[in-house]
Amino acid sequence: MKLPKLRELLEAVNSLVHRPYTSRFPFEPHTPYPSFRGQPKYDPDRCLGCLACEEVCPTEAIAHRDLTDDGTPRRVMIHYTDTCIFCGSCEAACIADHQGIRLSADWELSFFDRAKESFETIDKELAICEICGSVIACRDHLRWIAERLGELAFSSPTLYQTRLRELGIIDPILLEAARSFGREDRMKILCARCRRQTTLTTAAWPQGQEAGQGLT
Ligand code: SF4
Ligand code: SF4
Repeated sequence: MKLPKLRELLEAVNSLVHRPYTSRFPFEPHTPYPSFRGQPKYDPDRCLGCLACEEVCPTEAIAHRDLTDDGTPRRVMIHYTDTCIFCGSCEAACIADHQGIRLSADWELSFFDRAKESFETIDKELAICEICGSVIACRDHLRWIAERLGELAFSSPTLYQTRLRELGIIDPILLEAARSFGREDRMKILCARCRRQTTLTTAAWPQGQEAGQGLT
């Protein structure tokens, strides 16, 4: 009969007096190692809705839907937990100081209903063109750009209007002056196409015609 080696004997004795290395899940909650790479989570207060994370995701585990027909226009950011490989590219690319989406310690991803439980979402308010109604960007993203640009943001009416409206410092006298000159479009939040068209064709508008009206 082959006799056990000394090391195996020691291990056997050790296992009698020490806890096992493995956790007793599901009888006890499992606490992952601090550097464990679990499922990414959005932070709705930090995320800007810029879509950089969606661009870099190698498995298309991130998507978005822009909803403009019901209530407040909003962008729904979607993370599909069943296709995510926890690579961390989304966190690395996040323009919000890597805080808009972050890998968490959440490792328990089993679910019963894939259609309802395999994804997580957050909503971000959208800025809509005040002439044609097309999507410009998320409001938080516009604010972020304006803050980054500082005084340079005043070269873009859409950016400075976004900033002034949020600060609540729109001057009614300025508004009236723009109206009387037929330049209300300068006080509106517009998409690039409408901004270009209104800028190029304002002089041709008949008195009293709405900015951009009749443009195709
Ligand atoms: S961790 Fe990787 S796979 Fe998962 S959502 Fe982020 S980029 Fe996509
Ligand atoms: S701010 Fe970060 S998390 Fe939000 S959409 Fe942009 S890259 Fe993704």
